[in-house]
Amino acid sequence: MIKKAYLTIDDSPSADWSEKLRYLVEKDIQAVWFSTGENLEKRPEFVPAVLEAGHYIANHSFTHPDFSTISLDEAETEVARTQRLIDSLAGKHPGNPVWFRFPFGRRGDTDDSVKKEARFEKRDALQAMLKRLGFTVPNFFGVTYDVVTEHRSTGAYDWWWTFDFKEWAIHPDFSHYGLHSLSDLIKRLDTDYYRKATDFVGLNGSDSEEVVLIHDHAHSTQLFTPLIGALLKKGVEFSKI
Ligand SMILES: [Zn+2]
Repeated sequence: MIKKAYLTIDDSPSADWSEKLRYLVEKDIQAVWFSTGENLEKRPEFVPAVLEAGHYIANHSFTHPDFSTISLDEAETEVARTQRLIDSLAGKHPGNPVWFRFPFGRRGDTDDSVKKEARFEKRDALQAMLKRLGFTVPNFFGVTYDVVTEHRSTGAYDWWWTFDFKEWAIHPDFSHYGLHSLSDLIKRLDTDYYRKATDFVGLNGSDSEEVVLIHDHAHSTQLFTPLIGALLKKGVEFSKI
């Protein structure tokens, strides 16, 4: 069985985005680059280069805040300001879609100090805002995990992921994750777990397609290329959108 995956890259563009892009072009792997407005302002040349390679630029907010802890007005500014910047930098590539992923995957309902109903209200208001601003998400009908099926059935307008390489956890602040080296990360590619009884998550057994997540952080190319390489070696085939 061939396992299919879509590649998404968060927090772009870093100082070494071009090394990562060069590697992906060489391997003929298409990616969706979730970029922040702050980073795009620093490296605007990234946008035409990525679009010319047939990849996509998507919105990951302007300053990468936790959307559970900012106001709805602040949230709209974060999203709309970044999208205006992407659209203006995309220039003669009008086909770039309007896609958004929440920083840290926090969709407005993760602040425990707020009552449950208010958290859900916030989450729903953020989705209504994304809808109003024209955001969409591909259906990915080949992804069959319960957690994604639920997301799809609620009519959400933001992106999610099914597998996080967690290369960002190699950092003193995240030592509690127990991931200290490239080989620890590569071992995780073979680790499967259950989110709940019916929801098998992992790269081995399930026939679900995957939306995998890696980051474009500075000086992370030495993790980026071997991790993608390890996935290819495992027999995972990257799909284009
Ligand atoms: Zn991020």
